[in-house]
Formats: sequence, structure tokens, C-alpha cells
Amino acid sequence: MEGECSGVKPSDDEIWAKLVPSDSRYSDVEIRSDEKVVCSEISGSSSDKHSWCKIVRNSDLCSATMENKSSNTMLVDGAEVHNAETVVIKDRSEIIPGPDREGFVSYRFDILSSPETSQKLLQIRVDVENAKCSICLNIWHDVVTVAPCLHNFCNGCFSEWLRRSQEKRSTVLCPQCRGVVQFVGKNHFLRTIAEDMVRADSSLRRSDEEVALLDTYSSVRSNLVIGSGKKTRRKRAHTPVDDQSDGTDLQCPQCVNEVGGFRCNSNTVHLQCQACGGMMPSRTGFSAPQYCSGCDRSFCGAYWRALGVPGSGSYPVCSQDTLKPISEHSISRIPLLAHEKNLHEQNITEICIRQMGRTLQDVVSEWIAKLNNKEIDITRLVLNHAEMINARTFVCGDCYQKLVSFLLYWFRISIPKYRLPAEASAREDCWYGYACRTQHHSEEHARKRNHVCRPTRGSHM
Ligand SMILES: [Zn+2]
Ligand SMILES: [Zn+2]
Ligand SMILES: [Zn+2]
Ligand SMILES: [Zn+2]
Ligand SMILES: [Zn+2]
Ligand SMILES: [Zn+2]
Repeated sequence: MEGECSGVKPSDDEIWAKLVPSDSRYSDVEIRSDEKVVCSEISGSSSDKHSWCKIVRNSDLCSATMENKSSNTMLVDGAEVHNAETVVIKDRSEIIPGPDREGFVSYRFDILSSPETSQKLLQIRVDVENAKCSICLNIWHDVVTVAPCLHNFCNGCFSEWLRRSQEKRSTVLCPQCRGVVQFVGKNHFLRTIAEDMVRADSSLRRSDEEVALLDTYSSVRSNLVIGSGKKTRRKRAHTPVDDQSDGTDLQCPQCVNEVGGFRCNSNTVHLQCQACGGMMPSRTGFSAPQYCSGCDRSFCGAYWRALGVPGSGSYPVCSQDTLKPISEHSISRIPLLAHEKNLHEQNITEICIRQMGRTLQDVVSEWIAKLNNKEIDITRLVLNHAEMINARTFVCGDCYQKLVSFLLYWFRISIPKYRLPAEASAREDCWYGYACRTQHHSEEHARKRNHVCRPTRGSHM
């Protein structure tokens, strides 16, 4: 093979993968060259080493081809591999150098990220001076970006600027370039960069009190659409095509008519509904919520419902279903997200519910009640403000699905093994539990191991 490869092949001494034994008395097998025959020190009865398998790195650099060089049948991700047969292994594949789990130490195949790749990630450099808010002159905190000029500020700083601008005039100007601001939204990418900078250099950090005060001013949650005040001036006799191309056409039902004692003016900040694309004025202190508490995106369903405004041809208005209390949502099918999208586990849960003579809705309602009584550990609930969430919290459909998936994990965990369907109860727990990655690319592994359990190995313990 030598000399045949002319590309940027990593050098032979580079450790690119490891076989990590399940039993800590054995040491990791480091795989250095692109092709390596692994010798066994597994068999307890003999001290002789013998060839065990050959591992060749594939050109995609994220998988390898393993050939069984031993006389034993081996198990790879639960599937049998006979002598001289090959199989593709991926990061975290499980290799057992024998035909059964008992009597053989199992190994996990770990591909290490190459230093070249990680260096590339680290080489993004940002000058600290370019990551400062021009209002407070500190590194951005909870950074927002305004458009069309794309300047960045702390959420709190810009929110305060926005509030004051609106008291004085009908347009909001960018504090940095004085351009008219039409949109403002959170910038999650820059936020991560700013947080890394503050972590790396503590002299850039503000006091907790300062940050807490700044947070009290912050009003940008979802994207805000700010009227430029030009709307009326632009109104002139023209074709409908021109109307549609005008990106500042922000009209909502309250721009046209007073409803519930409120009418928008040219200076009103609007929120765009994430479901129907329609506009609603941003109202603080109004009784109906305008944001989903799980994702902080804005939805208009609850707002217009509270004001009794129905949808019409001219203004999109959602059905109330886009944003409503958790207790008013309903569910008839197990969400695709449930059990880390593992269809086998979803099936088992479905069978369990059926065998108990219950409905999915019934089970979910029971677990929502437990959530409400704070009987469940919410560490794995991937919703914003998770600690505040209860049955009366307004959430969108997506967040409700996430909540149901979370609750179904706890429902499954609570079922004793003997009450699971026979083919499910006989399975052993996968070491990596719900965090297992093999379950997503090995059908066989997903079926043969239980994945609704806590990881006992790996970084998610
Ligand atoms: Zn600032
Ligand atoms: Zn600007
Ligand atoms: Zn309006
Ligand atoms: Zn949501
Ligand atoms: Zn809507
Ligand atoms: Zn697994």
C-alpha cells in the first residue's frame, strides 16, 4: 500500500482511533497507522497473543473497515461477523471479540478528532474591540442584531434605546450608524462568541449586579419588526406588485382599527408570528401572552383570541392552536422526537400504553400533573425557562411535542421491566443509554439493546 496514496494522508504515528475496553483492567488499544492488525490479549485462559482483527480507516475519515482475523465469530454492534468477513464500523461501534457477551470483554471503537480539524475550529479569531457594544462599550451581553445595517448591541442597551426612541420620534435609528432600524433579533452565533471571550478573559466580565440590571431592560425575545414611519408616505397609486415588494408593510388588524382600546401608530413595534407570518403589536403588560415560553418565539394565536379578532383575507391571524396552555393541547400520536427518535423504543412505549388499556393522552395528562407537582427531575427538559413550566404555561405545538417526548421518557422509566413486552424486557441496557449514537445508524443495535435508560459510560453520565 505504501506510496500509493498521494493525498493529505495523516502520518503513521498519529493516533486516530482507540478501542476502549469495557473492563478497566485492560488498557486502551491505540490505533496509529491507517491500517492496523490488533492483537488480542483478551482470552483469560492463555497468555498467547493472537491476531484479532484488522482495522483500515476509510477515506471519509469517520468510519473504518474491520476484518475479523480471528477464528472466532465476533459481534459488532450486535451483528455476527465470521472469520475473514469485513464490516464497516463507525465512531462508538461496539466490538466483542467473541460470539457472545459473556467471557469476552467488549470494546468501543472511538474515532479521535484529528488535531488538524480541531485547530481549524479554534482558528476563528475575533478582535475583542469588534465584539463591543457601542452603547455601553462592554463585550456584548445577550447580543441582538439590528437590520438592515447589521450592527450589534447588548439586548438591554438596545431595548432601552428603543424605548427612549419611541417616546421621542416615529423612527428608531441605529445607535451606531444612525441608519433607520426595521428589524431587531437575537444573534445566537455572536452570543456564543461573546460568552467564550468573557470566559477566556475575566477582566472583560461585568459584575453580576450589572448583568442583572441589564437583563431587566432586555425586551427583545423574538424578532421585532419596527415601523419605519415611511409607510404612509409610500402610499401612492401604484400596482399591487409594488405593494408586495414593500418589505415595510407591517399592517396588523390594530393598525387599521382600534381593538380593545388600542390602536397601532407609525411608531409601534410589531412582532411577526412564527406560524402565520402575520403581525401583531408588541404589548408589554397585556394579559394574553405573545411568546411561547418554551422557545421564546412569537405566535399570534393567544393574542388575537383574547381580543376576539378573527382572521380575515387582509391580515393573517392564527388559530388559537398555535399558542395555548399546555393543559389545552392534545396528542394522539407519539412524537417523532420521542426516545431520541428511536422507532423501536417508540413502538415499545406504544405497546405498553395499549396493554395498560390506556390512551397516549391519558398517560401524558397524568405526567403533566406530576410535572405540575414538581415530582419529576427536569434536567433533561430542553425548553427555555424549564423550571417555570406548568400546566398553565402557554407553549407552541413544537414545544408541546418536546414536552411530551420528555414525559414519555419518565413514563417508560417508571414501568418495571417485567411489564414490558417480552422481546423488550429481555434486552440489556446499552451502556450509553439515551445518549447512544449507535442506535441512530445501527438498526440491529437499536433493536437489541434498551436505550430508554441513563448512560453508564461516555460523557453524558
Ligand atoms: Zn451594551
Ligand atoms: Zn447601524
Ligand atoms: Zn399594528
Ligand atoms: Zn415554542
Ligand atoms: Zn399567527
Ligand atoms: Zn446503544
